[in-house]
Amino acid sequence: MEGFTTPDKPVDIAQVFPELAGLERTTVRLHPRQDAVTVRDSSLGGPLLWPAEEAWPVCTVDHPDERPLTSPEGKRLQRRREEILEEKRNYEYTGPHPLDGEYAELETSIRELRRVEFADDPAASLPMAPIAQFYARDIPELPFPDGTDVCQVLWCPTDHEPHYGPRPLVRWRNSADVTEIRAATEPDREFSDEESLPSPCRIWPERVTEYPHADDLPSAELRARIAEWEKGTEWTYYEHLSAAPGSKVGGWISWVQYPHWPECGRGHRMDHLLTVSSTESGGWQSWMPLEEQATTTFVKQVWYQLVDGGSSGTTIGLDEEFDATEMTYWGAVAPETVRERVVPEDRSGSGRLDLMLGDVGDVYVFVCAVCPDRPVGVEFQCC
Ligand SMILES: [Zn+2]
Ligand SMILES: [Zn+2]
Repeated sequence: MEGFTTPDKPVDIAQVFPELAGLERTTVRLHPRQDAVTVRDSSLGGPLLWPAEEAWPVCTVDHPDERPLTSPEGKRLQRRREEILEEKRNYEYTGPHPLDGEYAELETSIRELRRVEFADDPAASLPMAPIAQFYARDIPELPFPDGTDVCQVLWCPTDHEPHYGPRPLVRWRNSADVTEIRAATEPDREFSDEESLPSPCRIWPERVTEYPHADDLPSAELRARIAEWEKGTEWTYYEHLSAAPGSKVGGWISWVQYPHWPECGRGHRMDHLLTVSSTESGGWQSWMPLEEQATTTFVKQVWYQLVDGGSSGTTIGLDEEFDATEMTYWGAVAPETVRERVVPEDRSGSGRLDLMLGDVGDVYVFVCAVCPDRPVGVEFQCC
């Protein structure tokens, strides 16, 4: 296997909309596939080059926990929170509730107290899991601080308040400094979210050009013209022509929901470091590697409306023809309503990361490339 090749785009969108010139970015698609990987390899979900003298990281931050606090102060805070909730229950929305601010402060105080009260609880302290390791020789595009050549990403494999998603940690190191290696602490299978623990994958970096997600475009007017253009083609800007789906480094983000670019504590807008995705699927004509297309079975999806109302559909072989004159189980087909689409038969993505982040979600990890200590941010989005 030599790697993966993203097909050429069905349309050169920058030809259609010259305003897109200058907005293109290069992303590194990672194309993860399960394989044996070592601490000396770049990988997703593989073992990390971790120095023996450094403790394995453990996360103790705000894992959701419904158990009530037991200290007098904790009980008081919880009572007050209940009172506010009761008031808000009967509130007819005319803008933010006057007690919203107090409520947010209470939540923070309760979280802080919970850290103290449940400090010895195993569910409150979880070993972090290896998510990614990138050597500069494979992905030189990363903002390696001076003197480092490995970027390591871990996350705590469960939800975190208040944003409900895995919490990442990024380490930059010099591989030459690591002589004795520490093996990863096994994840706590009882309190971790199994679907946030990836299977070890080798990566096959490939550089591709992307354009921004529609909501990252500089003007609503351009967005509207692109939407208008889509009506006359079988391609959609989001699925086929903008940002690459799947796990990748740098470039634009194929937001599952809406753009949210975090800022570091000093007010710099952070860069996209890494997307870890539940799925590698996007518009297959644009994003399914040619090597994979060659071994994939394609089928035809057929949709139609029925003469007596309602609609239905079926799947047929690529060389079959749908006969609109034949009676279906649900009744006669209105022939002029038949629509067909060629799709890959199996999109289960087995043999990849085996992650299911929420409902087919993505975790976006951000880094400030200006601040020398490279602060990170995270955003979790799912359907
Ligand atoms: Zn955690
Ligand atoms: Zn910064």
